[in-house]
Amino acid sequence: MTEQVPPAGRPDLPPQDAGALPHGNAPVDGEIGARASVPGGATRGEIADVIVVGAGPAGSAVSFYLATAGLDVLLLEKAHFPREKVCGDGLTPRAVKALTAMGVPLPETDGWLRNKGLRIIGGGGRIELDWPEMSSYPGYGLVRSRIDFDQILARHAEKAGVRLLEGTAVTSPLLDDRTGRIIGVTAKDGRQFRGRLVVAADGNSSRLSVAMGLHKREDRPLGVAVRTYYSSPRHDDDYLEAWLDLWDGTCLLPGYGWIFGMGDGTSNVGVGLLNTSAGFGEIDYRDLLRRWLATMPAEWGFTEDNRTQPVRGAALPMAFNRTPHYTRGLVLVGDAAGMVNPFNGEGIAYALESAEIAARVITQALARTTAAGRELVLQSYPRQLKDAYGGYYTLGRIFVELIGKPSFMKFATKHGVKRPAVMRFSMKLLGNLTETRGGDAVDRLLNAVSKMTPAA
Ligand SMILES: Cc1cc2nc3c(=O)[nH]c(=O)nc-3n(C[C@H](O)[C@H](O)[C@H](O)COP(=O)(O)OP(=O)(O)OC[C@H]3O[C@@H](n4cnc5c(N)ncnc54)[C@H](O)[C@@H]3O)c2cc1C
Repeated sequence: MTEQVPPAGRPDLPPQDAGALPHGNAPVDGEIGARASVPGGATRGEIADVIVVGAGPAGSAVSFYLATAGLDVLLLEKAHFPREKVCGDGLTPRAVKALTAMGVPLPETDGWLRNKGLRIIGGGGRIELDWPEMSSYPGYGLVRSRIDFDQILARHAEKAGVRLLEGTAVTSPLLDDRTGRIIGVTAKDGRQFRGRLVVAADGNSSRLSVAMGLHKREDRPLGVAVRTYYSSPRHDDDYLEAWLDLWDGTCLLPGYGWIFGMGDGTSNVGVGLLNTSAGFGEIDYRDLLRRWLATMPAEWGFTEDNRTQPVRGAALPMAFNRTPHYTRGLVLVGDAAGMVNPFNGEGIAYALESAEIAARVITQALARTTAAGRELVLQSYPRQLKDAYGGYYTLGRIFVELIGKPSFMKFATKHGVKRPAVMRFSMKLLGNLTETRGGDAVDRLLNAVSKMTPAA
């Protein structure tokens, strides 16, 4: 399928914004590689080499890498830290690797709760699978509340020189009249922020991308998940636990329930489903969670009396759910780019990884001396994402279609969970945890299949 590149123009800007943008304020070719200057009396706080919108994992990571490369970065976040983000709080070895690459300290003594692997329950079976010790990935995962986690990453970016502005909600892009390129953003309070490039790291809804004409793709999977926290004796479980038995009447649903111990007296408990099930839009997620938890042993404490937070939900945009990943001066990362793994619903590792790739591309692009050269580099970003994830995500789309059929889901759960070899294979496939080079027969098989599968 060919990607729909939205036409240049000023799609969502109201007329008063159009009037507020003086023609010709786009970055000048001759300035490329130089520090952002302060034209037209704008204050220092309003201009940078790169404007990043959203300080979730993707936004903080891309900002960190750009600042480390010597660029001046303004990171705009609508909330004030610490702030809540609806999440399972689970980090696989893939995410641990990405955090380590950023130099984020992860000591157990500082609340980084390590886990040994996955416990999978379903179809009458129960199996514990340790994360494999590999040269490409560490043999452990982590759990960390997003209240802490996102703040830690944002402060880490600040330490690298990023200028973070909290309480700054971006409302619209600033576009160059002549070219239709984004040259900055306007915030709710009217302030304008200009940069040579803008990064949309504003999460699943990505209003900035939408304002640039980049909508979610209907042909890509989407997950919906709800979660809450309970005081529970299971709070220090050293396995991430996934339950495959989510029933809607007699129909086995495509998704899973999770129980992740937080190590602080509570467990993060939730359910997530894919949009490939027949009744996707009609499912009452809170009720599904309640019914599933009613099947748990009472001593685990997952009762209303022990619930410490409201039940909250959000969507998981999967398998390149929004494309193109670069257009007209706007670079998409993380959930804004629809980067969630369709096999397992993991999004943090892919937010961090896409941020690193984007930062590498942007750094090279801004060092070019012509607009044409810069554009050539920026156009390589979607290709690099496709090379890294395209085949795997195509396989993921086939997988979500298959498990959307209750008969397949039933068969896979019933016959898979009881077979350790099948589950070890599944863990590598679903977690995208293969050695990047060499490895065992399973690694080589999965890498070859991913490479051969077209990145559509
Ligand atoms: C219920 C649930 C459970 C999940 N569990 C897991 C899990 O266990 N492990 C995992 O890896 N992934 C999980 N995910 C997915 C994961 O949460 C996301 O993939 C991840 O947060 C993406 O990071 P991001 O930085 O791209 O976006 P976000 O984390 O959404 O960050 C976006 C940031 O942009 C800010 N922002 C938005 N709009 C604006 C604006 N207009 N102006 C300024 N700032 C703005 C927001 O305030 C936010 O800080 C889960 C998702 C859900 C819904």
